[in-house]
Amino acid sequence: MQRDINVNWHPYSQMKTTVHLPIVSGKGSYLFDANGKSYLDMISSWWVTIHGHAHPYIAEKMFAQLNTLEHVIYAGFTHPSAIELSERLLALLPENQQKMFYSDNGSTAVEVALKMCIQKSYNQGVKKNKIVAFKNAYHGDTFGAMSVSQPGPWTIPFADLLFEVIFIDVPTADNLSNTKKVIASHRNEIACLIYEPLVQGAAGMLMHQAEDLSELMRYCRENGIYLIQDEVFVGFGRTGTLFAADQLSQQPDIMCFSKGLTGGTLAMGLTSCSQEIYDAFYADQKYKALFHGHSFTANPVSCAAALASLDLLLQKETQSQIQRIVNQQRGFANTLKNHPKVVNVRSLGTIVAMDCKQKEETSYFSDLQESLYAQFIDKGILIRPLGNIIYLLPPYSTSEQDLDYVYSVILEILNE
Ligand code: PMP
Repeated sequence: MQRDINVNWHPYSQMKTTVHLPIVSGKGSYLFDANGKSYLDMISSWWVTIHGHAHPYIAEKMFAQLNTLEHVIYAGFTHPSAIELSERLLALLPENQQKMFYSDNGSTAVEVALKMCIQKSYNQGVKKNKIVAFKNAYHGDTFGAMSVSQPGPWTIPFADLLFEVIFIDVPTADNLSNTKKVIASHRNEIACLIYEPLVQGAAGMLMHQAEDLSELMRYCRENGIYLIQDEVFVGFGRTGTLFAADQLSQQPDIMCFSKGLTGGTLAMGLTSCSQEIYDAFYADQKYKALFHGHSFTANPVSCAAALASLDLLLQKETQSQIQRIVNQQRGFANTLKNHPKVVNVRSLGTIVAMDCKQKEETSYFSDLQESLYAQFIDKGILIRPLGNIIYLLPPYSTSEQDLDYVYSVILEILNE
């Protein structure tokens, strides 16, 4: 730990006060520290590890790929793993999704999506460059992604450098008609709406109804506004279906993926789009190309990991594990509904979340965060509250007994 402090600077961490535990190995839903103590990873290591740690099947496929082709530039070249991955994923997405653009992580998948929308208008000589996003949104930490995220403490130092965005309420039956009026008043300037479907993760696992979102999507399409569906967090089974898209009645124009894409083994981002978006870049003029790319775009080992993760995800056993976790989480949410120490208990798919009651309003900077986190770590559980919001986001490898143990610890800590 001392060697770490000497040389490393960690993300989202006040280095003066945060302790960084040395983890030396992982197996299934468990992580192990240097002293052999185990931790049940109930946040899937920042929402990525869907099949558990050090999965032998994914490792085997990555090793085989490493021994065949570890990397190749993806401009002017292609390779079998990228082709197979795109083919297999497109077959699972809404049918209007026709093309895949690779990048490095969730934020870059979002940057690519925004560029697709804005440059589409430019290529077609249309002046449409306003972007609409949801209040409380989080889409990543690069500048474009920060711009379309809820302004707040994380982005305030950069506020003058972020582009202007129209923020609208997350749709509910009550506010939809008002939101439509806001959109209508800017109709001719708006290029796209970007949104996290069904769950706003970083905002504190805030959930909304599929019907209300579908209605907003329908209205936007009717008004020529493109839809960017950020499934970076919710994709690959989190909401109980393969994608949140499976619960919506409208199709987005563009979709963003990362996190669970490689089963949490390697960083990779993907932006899928409709033929209509793609066609606006398909031209005789070279300048109409999408000039975006990263050194490791479509890295073959990442693609192999994603293919292996997809194999596992589609297995019957994994699907029934997911459904069992969905039911267990729903049951736990019901148990907590009238608990005196929590409010806003909510669950969707494999996610459950609750606000711990405190005198102040719910906040990311709540002092409860540190004390709750430390108590869970002490009990051998990795839960990383968002302020006073406790949430569980288990890998699909988590057993019924392990999840029950976690519930019992949460109740014990709440009761204390
Ligand atoms: N979009 C959403 C909805 C996210 O939750 C996140 C990350 N939490 C991102 C984008 C950014 O992904 P990354 O951290 O891989 O850049």
